[in-house]
Amino acid sequence: MPDRKTKSDREPVSRRAALGLGVAASAAAAVSGAQAAPAPQGAAREVDVVVVGAGFAGLTAARALRRAGRKVVVLEADGRVGGRTKAGRVAGEVVDLGGQWVGPGQTRLLALAEELGVATYPQYVEGKNIIDVDGRRVAYEGEVPALGPQATAEFAEVVGKIEALAAQVPALAPWTAPMAAELDSQTIESWLLANARLPATRTMMRLLVRAVMSAETSEVSFLACVAYAAAAGGFSPLISTRGGAQETLFDGGAWQMAAKMAQDLGPAVVLNAQVKAIAQDEAGVTVTTAQGAWRGRYVIVTAPPAMAARIDYTPALPAQRDGLSQRMPLGCVIKVHLAYARPFWREQGLSGLVISDRTEFGPWFDHSPLKGGGGSLVGFFDGGPAQRWADRPAAERRAKVLKDVALYFGEAALSPVDYAEEVWTRAPLQRGGYVSVPPPGALTAFGPALRASVGRIHWAGTETAEAWTGYIDGAIRSGEHAAQVVGGLL
Ligand SMILES: Cc1cc2nc3c(=O)[nH]c(=O)nc-3n(C[C@H](O)[C@H](O)[C@H](O)COP(=O)(O)OP(=O)(O)OC[C@H]3O[C@@H](n4cnc5c(N)ncnc54)[C@H](O)[C@@H]3O)c2cc1C
Repeated sequence: MPDRKTKSDREPVSRRAALGLGVAASAAAAVSGAQAAPAPQGAAREVDVVVVGAGFAGLTAARALRRAGRKVVVLEADGRVGGRTKAGRVAGEVVDLGGQWVGPGQTRLLALAEELGVATYPQYVEGKNIIDVDGRRVAYEGEVPALGPQATAEFAEVVGKIEALAAQVPALAPWTAPMAAELDSQTIESWLLANARLPATRTMMRLLVRAVMSAETSEVSFLACVAYAAAAGGFSPLISTRGGAQETLFDGGAWQMAAKMAQDLGPAVVLNAQVKAIAQDEAGVTVTTAQGAWRGRYVIVTAPPAMAARIDYTPALPAQRDGLSQRMPLGCVIKVHLAYARPFWREQGLSGLVISDRTEFGPWFDHSPLKGGGGSLVGFFDGGPAQRWADRPAAERRAKVLKDVALYFGEAALSPVDYAEEVWTRAPLQRGGYVSVPPPGALTAFGPALRASVGRIHWAGTETAEAWTGYIDGAIRSGEHAAQVVGGLL
């Protein structure tokens, strides 16, 4: 392959500006150094592999290929790296506006943090959680939601049933499970109505599905829910703090690992380069952006299926892949950080965790900084509430958040010192989060197209992961896998 020098190779600009991470002043060290300037128009630049998207999947794939001696370029539509992870700032602290937690079993993300020197700390769980479901408000300690004796037993039974099914469903190919057609013919809601009798159990499950899939039980295939649990080693790890996916946080945020990986890749990451078209021929692929075209032997597309569908493919994608893209909408989510002078809820013996069907906002968690004595909460509008609130004025949303928090923490909640939010559902390059949520019928009819390469096009991204689908860890795994497969073809 000719190794043409591009303008981006020759003219480094401030990495911080180039990555669009100006918000993160205290993290400047992580993002300083040389970076790609906008690439020039003109003839296609040649690489071995073109990677589309600079989220964790794309950056991981590119680093792995580079380590194997391959020439790569990462084309990112946005003016920053990180994708569904993003830096924000609240009360002077750099926080995650997107993905943030890591838990046991998420070995790839934990290994990456260690490699990149990012420290972790435990999610604060001291004191009592509040659960307010079906008119019954309870403060309780530990991981088992206190729903009352009957509903607690039924809830455990329901979780047990999902876990038993998850043990029989291969996370990589749920459509091959013997009962796949039956599970995929119903929504989570219809399964719940048939398998839980008590209103409190049903409501709790609806709230939890919202919290872990950012969608309503009535929207999502039950097979997709079981497969999601299978990829996480069960349903309990998804919903738990201690021992689960919400156990641990990164000091300074998860986003900084994307920044560090991009820093490592240097000029190979090109920002503001939305891929408009991918054409393949016998010898390779031509990937066209507003900044010109790149030529590679293979392309790895890491955008989630609904976003990958916006690229123009020549020749056209197979009908099964196109059908899949039309049936993998992203969930709806708005993430909010609230900062207070001090974590006053701790003085009331509360952990900060609230899950309620009386509020639109929630669940929320204590997210207080490790130093300085300030108090913070982080929480979500998920699923239906995110749909309802995404297009409302920001001031109305903020007022709603404060009112909801005050319902449980008192008047002090009405006076935060700072507030930050990200409306992912309206973000033009993400169009939602945390993950794609297939409706009934999608996986059994179109699922095989999720990972199947199309000629020289290979698919990655958390949606394609063999474990921890929907999570940063899954994104990393998918990037590693794609790099291994494509690397083997070169
Ligand atoms: C609010 C929120 C909270 C979350 N919480 C957690 C959590 O606590 N823990 C956890 O592990 N996970 C969490 N997640 C999920 C996690 O962030 C994602 O699973 C992960 O970041 C996905 O990485 P990815 O690389 O697969 O995809 P993405 O991050 O979506 O990366 C894809 C990239 O492709 C780019 N792109 C799209 N189209 C094009 C195009 N045509 N041309 C060029 N580039 C393009 C996008 O801009 C994006 O940068 C959360 C997500 C959200 C939104």
